[in-house]
Amino acid sequence: MTKDSPWFYENFEQSGSAIGFRVTGKLDEVRSAFQLIEIWNTTDWGKLMVIDGAIMLTSRDNFLYHEMMAHPVLFTHTNPKRVVIIGGGDCGTLREVLKHKEVENAVQVDIDEQVTRMSEKYFPELCESNHDPRAELLFDDGIAYMRNIAPESVDVVIVDSTDPVGPAEGLFNEAFYASCARALRSGGILVQQSESPLVHLSLIKAMRHHMAVAGFAHSRTLTFPQPCYPTGWWSCTLARKGGELSGFRERGAYSKTFSTRYYNVETHRAALATPEFMRELGD
Ligand code: SAM
Repeated sequence: MTKDSPWFYENFEQSGSAIGFRVTGKLDEVRSAFQLIEIWNTTDWGKLMVIDGAIMLTSRDNFLYHEMMAHPVLFTHTNPKRVVIIGGGDCGTLREVLKHKEVENAVQVDIDEQVTRMSEKYFPELCESNHDPRAELLFDDGIAYMRNIAPESVDVVIVDSTDPVGPAEGLFNEAFYASCARALRSGGILVQQSESPLVHLSLIKAMRHHMAVAGFAHSRTLTFPQPCYPTGWWSCTLARKGGELSGFRERGAYSKTFSTRYYNVETHRAALATPEFMRELGD
């Protein structure tokens, strides 16, 4: 735990930048059928999960991402009862979703059971709602799951996936969005983590084009800080079958009965603000 401790770095070739954490050592490592999962202990950020060399989360800052993947979409939908999470194996998004009392059922579909097993061991605080009777944890390919789900059976789909390479590549295309559109009830909303607005604007543009072609009438990209991801600034993109995406249930968010550390009405409004360089997205 000294200044001489080693550092874990993730280099981002695309942006010529890197993010690093001072570590005291590797706590665990498992090579699953899909990916290499590593857990490191850091000096200042708690534990660190890395998949195939890409930083997934730290104990200290994951609340930003998990809250922003769950609460904006749930406070935008008028009455979210049935939620599907694709990916999300660390279970942090599931925990946030289940804070909403009106949610009757939340199915999490991660391709890799080992991610959840590692999270249970090293991030137990994220897994504290896994035994909620409304939660269902499946270990399956999210692409196939959405292809086969009953039409018009879901209110919200949350895609909490790894980057669009490897097993997650097929979660960013038109065929997957068409499956989501078919699965959603009228007024239903899809939200997907959409990488860094600073370096992945063309990816976000492509995602939104595919969403429109797949039948989503409106889409909108929200931004928020996320220190452990490339550039430290991240985004999620919402797409709705019918209805607008410019506002949200502010009164519900004001009087929410659960605690959050980042999300509130003001941070939600701030996330909806469009920086000038992002205007080309049409928000
Ligand atoms: N949001 C984090 C990020 O951007 O770094 C990722 C967190 S979460 C751990 C990502 C999860 O997506 C992983 O557990 C991975 O197994 C899962 N995943 C990747 N491709 C998938 C697929 N096709 N179906 C279901 N889950 C998938």
